[in-house]
Amino acid sequence: MTLVLSFDNSYAQLPPRFYTRQSAVPVRAPRLVAWNAGLAEALGIEGGEDTGALARIFAGNEVPEGATPLAQVYAGHQFGGFSPQLGDGRALLLGEVVDSNGQRRDIQLKGSGPTPYSRMGDGRAWLGPVLREYVVSEAMHALGIPTTRALAAVETGEPVYREAGSLPGAVLTRVASSHIRVGTFQYFAARRDLEGLRALYDYTVTRHYPQIEGPAHLLAEVIRRQARLVARWLSVGVIHGVMNTDNTAISGETIDYGPCAFMDTYHPQTVYSSIDAHGRYAYDNQAHVIVWNMAQFATALVPLMPDQDAAIEEFTALVHAMPDRIEAEWRRAFAAKIGIAEPGPEDGALIADLLARMAEGQADFTNTFRALVTGGARDQFLDPAAFDVWEAGWRARLAQEREPEAVMRAANPSVIPRNHRVEQMIEAAVAGDLAPFERLMDVLSAPFEDRPDAADLRRPPAASEIVRATFCGT
Ligand code: AMP
Ligand code: MG
Repeated sequence: MTLVLSFDNSYAQLPPRFYTRQSAVPVRAPRLVAWNAGLAEALGIEGGEDTGALARIFAGNEVPEGATPLAQVYAGHQFGGFSPQLGDGRALLLGEVVDSNGQRRDIQLKGSGPTPYSRMGDGRAWLGPVLREYVVSEAMHALGIPTTRALAAVETGEPVYREAGSLPGAVLTRVASSHIRVGTFQYFAARRDLEGLRALYDYTVTRHYPQIEGPAHLLAEVIRRQARLVARWLSVGVIHGVMNTDNTAISGETIDYGPCAFMDTYHPQTVYSSIDAHGRYAYDNQAHVIVWNMAQFATALVPLMPDQDAAIEEFTALVHAMPDRIEAEWRRAFAAKIGIAEPGPEDGALIADLLARMAEGQADFTNTFRALVTGGARDQFLDPAAFDVWEAGWRARLAQEREPEAVMRAANPSVIPRNHRVEQMIEAAVAGDLAPFERLMDVLSAPFEDRPDAADLRRPPAASEIVRATFCGT
């Protein structure tokens, strides 16, 4: 049976200056590495049994019926500096499908060859970042955090050349609510292409926010979703790594897992990305950076407004209100982690006190919170007495809660994709062994279960296993 994706492409209906129509550059020997059958089913994709056909299609060698491959153009602030033109330099949007819940999803190939937006890049990806994104994005989904998904990974049978030398090439198929970014709005705003900006605005509203009325309302909604999203990242110890405005999705999904990592030992200033020299995107800076990114979004929306001075005033107020919103989302997310379902303002201090003690005591982020419900939290601290002091106040507060254990169990994962396990998985995959990848995918699909056979995946890295830097993979 041939593979059937019921494409229904809307982005390709936008004016031609929104993208470049483009085919993937065929690769030598496509071989299927991973296929997300559950996601495929939700997307109504039929005929996924033919692995040869899957490999050819998701390597870009064969264009499936109904696809209109294109590279999207966008701009973006990268580490604070504005690039007026970026775009899909190694990705192609095949088209859109409407899933079983009626939700429109983009099907995108990443690593499919050069496009007019590749600049100095080769348009390719290697197996490491492809499998990293596959595992981490699916783990985020299982944690209930809005994210793009991974549908397929295919090895190309061709080498790609990076600093580390010659590496196996691969293509990831990414599924997203859309790939509209803050940077997409910035692209049209920076060119003073008001007609393009309006078309993008109308398209975005129809696709993501049909109930909203006007740009201010759109800004407020995106701020709401992004505040919630970043609070959720913080609550599971995620460091996105490249929160450039081109990697901030208007849908409110997590997008672009380059150097993204979960931290082991808690420290608020943790940075993994090899290119983030000044810690702009450090763990606890994420709550500030997203406000800055929303300010850039607001700026790009201003030209849509008839009275621009009034708009600037209104948008500024929305952006200025964002930190309080993030704080409220943060408090809610972390309160659940300590068993409090409906936090009051005073609970913030209890959470902050625990985090300060965790940083001081070099406690493992994931295991400490999980141990609050399964037992043994004090053993996570260099000085367990530091936990005991906090625990007394916490227990007194918990007496007012009805089901703190259930709340904690649902908020504190037992297992996360730890950096060193991801690296070990990549090393094995490069050597041709996919068993660690498959095992990670299996265990991470149920992150709130304490599976006895997954104890090794819960363990923090030994000193020799600690991964200090992650890479964009470009
Ligand atoms: P990122 O930091 O991964 O979000 O990428 C930033 C920009 O660089 C995007 O426009 C990418 O399409 C482009 N890019 C990244 N890697 C490559 C590559 N290997 N070849 C071409 N373009 C790339
Ligand atoms: Mg990107």
